[in-house]
Amino acid sequence: MSKLSVKDVPVSGKRVLVRVDFNVPLDENQQITDDSRILGALPTIRYLAEHKARTILCSHLGRPKGKFVPEMSLAPVAKRLQELLPGLNISFASDVIGEDAKKKAAELRDGEVLLLENLRFHAEEEKNDSKFAKALADYAELYVSDAFGTVHRAHASTEGVAHYLPAVCGFLIEKELDVMGKALSDPERPFVALLGGKKVRDKIGVIRNLLNKCDTLLIGGGMCYTFYKAMGLNIGNSVLDEESIDLAKTLLDEAKKKGVRMLLPVDCVVGKEFKNDTEILTISYDEIPDGYIGMDIGEKTDELYAQIIREAGTVVWNGPLGVFEFDNFAQGSEAIARACAECEGITIIGGGDSAAAIAKFGLSDKMSHISTGGGASLEFLEGKTLPGIACLLDKPERKKLIAGNWKMNMNRDETKVLVEELIPLVSESACDIVVCPPFVDLSCAAKRVKGTNIHLGAQNVHWAAKGAFTGEISADMLKNIGVEYAIIGHSERRQYFGETDETVNMRVKAALENELIPIVCVGETLEQREAGITDSFLAGQVRALYNGITADKAETIIIAYEPIWAIGTGKTATDEEANRTIGAIRSVVAELYGAAFAEQTRILYGGSMNAKNAAGLKSMPEIDGGLIGGASLKAEDFAKVIKA
Ligand code: ADP
Ligand code: MG
Repeated sequence: MSKLSVKDVPVSGKRVLVRVDFNVPLDENQQITDDSRILGALPTIRYLAEHKARTILCSHLGRPKGKFVPEMSLAPVAKRLQELLPGLNISFASDVIGEDAKKKAAELRDGEVLLLENLRFHAEEEKNDSKFAKALADYAELYVSDAFGTVHRAHASTEGVAHYLPAVCGFLIEKELDVMGKALSDPERPFVALLGGKKVRDKIGVIRNLLNKCDTLLIGGGMCYTFYKAMGLNIGNSVLDEESIDLAKTLLDEAKKKGVRMLLPVDCVVGKEFKNDTEILTISYDEIPDGYIGMDIGEKTDELYAQIIREAGTVVWNGPLGVFEFDNFAQGSEAIARACAECEGITIIGGGDSAAAIAKFGLSDKMSHISTGGGASLEFLEGKTLPGIACLLDKPERKKLIAGNWKMNMNRDETKVLVEELIPLVSESACDIVVCPPFVDLSCAAKRVKGTNIHLGAQNVHWAAKGAFTGEISADMLKNIGVEYAIIGHSERRQYFGETDETVNMRVKAALENELIPIVCVGETLEQREAGITDSFLAGQVRALYNGITADKAETIIIAYEPIWAIGTGKTATDEEANRTIGAIRSVVAELYGAAFAEQTRILYGGSMNAKNAAGLKSMPEIDGGLIGGASLKAEDFAKVIKA
């Protein structure tokens, strides 16, 4: 379940409390030695300022343990922030919930930013004290969480405030959830997990969780010696996690049972002493001599692992493969970091030391995603519920809908048979199901579907309520016999019957007047596609269909994207193409009615969706179902599309 983000809710003119991670390292003169955390927070701050919010930033810095410690003031951060955002008006409060902060917060104007003093000057912060949380919440009308590094802790500013304010995530957290969430729930395969670091114990949760999801698990770092020990091998003076020896055995067995390929290093770099300049040997994993310490993976292992990583669809890496802090034992981590850089799949780095290692090799910008939360990313990879994430509002899930457009097929008797065949096949289905037979069959079909989970739609509706319109059918007539949906502006109507954007809009209005749910079709021709004007053409159709309709009325409208070049031709858009285009349509809806509205608007794909391709298309995040032609004319085929 994804979370609402700052761009899904109105912020203009609102007071917004933002929890950021400004826990930057300072030297003895209170100079910031690394401002990457401040840089990470800029997109959300910029967005809020540009959208005329009144932004109140809060963060912790260091461990002042509930006392005012001048050396841990956020004042240098305020100064740096102003240098980074010279166009903004940024002020700094000398306290958190005291007079100065209250006064400055009250004086904030649209587009201005205030940074509060260090949250941990109050012991109540880490205790998640409800009065303190309420005092923070009182500053604002909206809470934005953007400090991923602290979401695994339930503190007043990370969890408590969400009890008093609508809570959404900022861009930093949104990206963390998107990338890591997708890797865990629906990874591109092969999915390779790479785990290093010092102790098995620290990573048990991650190993267990990833064992259920990955195809290959590569082990390195200090933890591999506990596995060797479990296999009865000599490990010299290498780091050993005594307590975890049995566990290491169990994990090896679990991997075998689950059919996950779990590899340990085939060679090791060992040192006489735990320091950079020491006597060094590279030996096979089963020949570690007494008196030596395993410090890094060897070159054969580099090659073996690198090959697997280069071919991966997803790599999740947590924990360095050797004592990378010593240059002589950094080559394994570096070789693997280079393989990640060369990998064309998604590469995700979780863990503070792993991120530091990759930065040391200058490869940070070659990774798809480096998590900004050390402990938080670890807990995320363990599959744990993070309190600072759980408290954020869920993004509403759009219910999938499958509508069958029978076009000019099926007489009344055939309709009766088809509907009766369909009913038992789809009675358990969780998605909305609509069938759209020809007008003359609707009455008969209405009787059959009564009391089932199948709903009825018409293939068109006239814009006038009644009168001299020979051959037409009004919305009221349809409603009267139990029809709930109406397809409007199908490409065939646009192509053969002179349907225009204006008449589509008129029909939509008539349908809404009578509480029929419009399924409005848009789509581009082959020529338009080849001329590269797909998006602008569709945007025009979308704007036209909503013309003059207020948001409260427009809410029920469903859009069906039908690439005309894919109808009846057997050609289909790829899943990604269809998803991208529907995303573009959604952003036009967002321009018209706002992002939150667009998030709730259902957009179907209609263009030769069938039993074979339905699962792929329906699994795309932007695609909310399908408008099905040919494949809806056989109960079995249609049921397959519905259940896919
Ligand atoms: P992360 O912060 O990325 O989650 P960890 O904290 O689990 O990673 O592990 C990082 C530490 O593991 C590093 O300090 C590194 O020196 C240490 N380490 C890696 N390999 C070994 C080894 N063979 N022996 C001892 N320590 C090791
Ligand atoms: Mg660490």
